[in-house]
Amino acid sequence: MNRIILLSFVFLLFISCQSNKKNSTEPDGYIYSVQGKMDISKLGISLTHEHIMSRFGLESSYVPVYLKDSPFMQVIPYLKEVKALGIVSIFDCTTAYFGRDVRLLKEISDSTGMEIITNTGYYAAANDRYVPESAYESTIEEISRIWIEEFENGIDGTDIKPGFIKLGFDNGASDIDSKLFSAGILTHLSTGMTMAVHTGDNPTAVENQLELLEQFKVSPSAIVWVHASNTTDDNLLIETAEKGVWISLDKFKSPATEDYVSRIQLFKEKNLLHKVLLSHDGNSFNGKDQLRGYKAVITHLVPALKENGFSDDEINQLLVLNPKNAFRVEVRNL
Ligand SMILES: [Zn+2]
Repeated sequence: MNRIILLSFVFLLFISCQSNKKNSTEPDGYIYSVQGKMDISKLGISLTHEHIMSRFGLESSYVPVYLKDSPFMQVIPYLKEVKALGIVSIFDCTTAYFGRDVRLLKEISDSTGMEIITNTGYYAAANDRYVPESAYESTIEEISRIWIEEFENGIDGTDIKPGFIKLGFDNGASDIDSKLFSAGILTHLSTGMTMAVHTGDNPTAVENQLELLEQFKVSPSAIVWVHASNTTDDNLLIETAEKGVWISLDKFKSPATEDYVSRIQLFKEKNLLHKVLLSHDGNSFNGKDQLRGYKAVITHLVPALKENGFSDDEINQLLVLNPKNAFRVEVRNL
């Protein structure tokens, strides 16, 4: 464990030196965190798929009911520990109806110094449990207008804006999944926010998403294949990354270290390291059981990558540069 901490520390030293250097591949641009407009250069080491809190498994509710003290007692001390490992930014993937509470996120960000990026969109996985009834009645344009409005004017009467669009597919590609994805494309075209699409092991959904992107003349680089790590088809991952889609290996836990290292190695061999995002799909408060942590990428995966010959530049690419390129606000036309 001491060795892990030491390796993490050396890595962090490297990253802090790096951030002072002008790197020619550094993208310009911005994103919104719950603190406001943020220069993309400030994103730092980022976890691109976590849940600060969510109501997963509980009933859908637009106004999330959390026992007010509990998120604070559990989340704030935990986030302080995560921050001490060098994590600068967390993309919170909890959508509206699934537990998004931007005021609470802002308070948590204020108390911890963690940059938190929240989202717009609807989560159409989990058997559409968190899709509001109105989405079935509304047109694609009407749905996108709600999401664009959040980007332009803020969420729930605050000036807190989303930094990305969260969407989801269940098995295959149902009508509501495709409809919401199309609304996501319209929102992307109007705002430049990237779409993070819960897809998992679902080649039909990937195909459907790529077809729709083409219809709307939007580049595959506008989407993140969320939970791509659930698929066993490495060839499909590589082919899809070659088309430009961001591949999110985002279910990391320490027992999976070897699997993740060999998979990341494969992307490196194919010169596709620049399309990979890493995260845990952790959850620091779900209202019922223990938190699902999100430190292991730093404490276990980074040291293992280094032992397997990954350079500091390559690790910087995975944890700092790729999140910036994936999520900076920009319309990505074909
Ligand atoms: Zn998730």
